[in-house]
Amino acid sequence: MNKNAFSVCRLDTIQPYKPSNQVAWFLPPETKPLKLDWNESPLPPSPSVMNAVRKFLDHPNALNWYPDANSQDLRAKLSEHWKVPEECVQTYCGSDSALHAAVRIFTKSGGAVLMVSPTYDNFRIYALEAQCSVILDGPKDIYSLSGAELSALVEKHKPQLVYLSNPNNPTGWLVPAKEIEEVVRRFPETMFIVDEAYAEFSNVTVIPLAVLVPNLVAFRTFSKAYGLAGLRIGYIIGSPGNIDYLNLIRNGKNVSMIGQVAAIAALNDQDYLKEILIRVRKGEQILESGLTRLGFPFRASPANFVLVKFPDAKKVQDSLVAQNAFVRSMSHLPGMEGYLRITLGDEEQMTRFMVALEKSL
Ligand code: PLP
Repeated sequence: MNKNAFSVCRLDTIQPYKPSNQVAWFLPPETKPLKLDWNESPLPPSPSVMNAVRKFLDHPNALNWYPDANSQDLRAKLSEHWKVPEECVQTYCGSDSALHAAVRIFTKSGGAVLMVSPTYDNFRIYALEAQCSVILDGPKDIYSLSGAELSALVEKHKPQLVYLSNPNNPTGWLVPAKEIEEVVRRFPETMFIVDEAYAEFSNVTVIPLAVLVPNLVAFRTFSKAYGLAGLRIGYIIGSPGNIDYLNLIRNGKNVSMIGQVAAIAALNDQDYLKEILIRVRKGEQILESGLTRLGFPFRASPANFVLVKFPDAKKVQDSLVAQNAFVRSMSHLPGMEGYLRITLGDEEQMTRFMVALEKSL
């Protein structure tokens, strides 16, 4: 890192989150790159979303006006979808920015943040920025986490705030909502941030509890199953009191109007969501039977990715890149050396991926 006199000294020791390589954007679309590295949906959103976006662009002020900073229609739609009061819902420019806000609101400087690990690394940066101490600890078996193990971790570290990705990116554990509830109720002084970015795939949610208790907030996104990563729409569901606190620092202008319109159309097309979930599971079968045939150990997840261990992961990844197939190395996370995470696509995409993988060996 190049330091200069203006470097903010309290942040300059942070190890930044490593984004994945975005080369796919610069390849001609007709080369059909396999972008399986960032758990986006490799499939476009519903045609009704595309129509709603096109129609929105016909509004004479579509781009020159700021968006509706209250996300009025989207919040009303989410409230109807989840059967929770509107004051329990707030929108953000992606769930990343919702998580960022939550750390700033729910921690005190110097507080301890437990990230149940190995997990999605972005949260670590937000916690460090908020001057918290970050504890990375998790279950012995990184692929499964029970409520009892979660409880033991909270007991051991006594954090001010717990970050739990459920299902977990990248190891796929899934704690049943009932078990999370027991832990949340057992530690009323600890704030639980449950990141449900992949919950459309797993169908497990703490949303009904989050609206009732003060020490749990649920985080959701349109970036994964709904296929809207590029529009940056996420939301929080929590008690009205917690949403009021979050609103103290929220900048509603960051939630684009195109994103709001697209998210409403996506929620209105639940049949398309179901179709995507089926297509992804079919793609998963192709990938997993191919990996079994080749003899590579892998872990399936209740989300849209599979973790695979390779004897020489770097060589495999480089060769895949040369074939315009992008997967995510997990080597930046402690204990995950040699693992590649492959985002699931549909049958056609996974068939092409297996051809590329075999060539890379
Ligand atoms: N949370 C988890 C666990 C993720 O894996 C990701 C993206 O990979 C995000 C949040 C980011 O979601 P968004 O696009 O809504 O910011």
